[in-house]
Amino acid sequence: MLNLVLFGPPGAGKGTQAIFLAETFNLVHLSTGDLLRQEIADKTELGLMAQEIMSKGELVPDSIVISMIEVKLKNPNNGFIFDGFPRTTPQAQALDSLLEKHGTKVSVMLCLEVAKEELISRLLNRGLSSGRSDDTDPATIENRINVYNEKTAPIISFYESQGKYISIHGVGTIEDIAVSLKRAIENIPI
Ligand code: AMP
Repeated sequence: MLNLVLFGPPGAGKGTQAIFLAETFNLVHLSTGDLLRQEIADKTELGLMAQEIMSKGELVPDSIVISMIEVKLKNPNNGFIFDGFPRTTPQAQALDSLLEKHGTKVSVMLCLEVAKEELISRLLNRGLSSGRSDDTDPATIENRINVYNEKTAPIISFYESQGKYISIHGVGTIEDIAVSLKRAIENIPI
């Protein structure tokens, strides 16, 4: 099985590239952001709670996102692509044990590298069409990037120590970045 963690700061292009990679390698695309937005759209109790946290650019508690992923680890096709998960070290550890229970593991973590100024301009631009409130408010965007640097970026060393971290230059056309990702995946030693 091929299990990819697509990693990077908000606005790095994870969602767009995850859709492409899921199609290319026949993977199930699991985005915790999408799952949470669905809860909000369905007006569930969880959605109401998550909405408040997400509108501030903070992280939803680990236990909630881990349970969301746990129930989706079925019918893997050729594997999974995790987009926006894990975002903390406890989430990364939980993912390892969940996959182990299914007799599999993370194959590789692909990190899209994009400079902060570019992220801010991409997010503000996306906010014009996405209708996502967390993409329109500059203070929320700034907080999301800070939260990424403080709580999420430390996971890089978690995967680096397992020899699974691959850095990908995340600036250029969508097609160019897709090619870099595809090449990196095709070169993973089996
Ligand atoms: P995203 O669509 O990945 O940018 O996620 C949007 C928002 O959903 C984030 O800013 C967080 O508030 C929340 N969220 C998504 N995934 C996670 C996660 N793995 N852990 C905690 N919060 C998350």
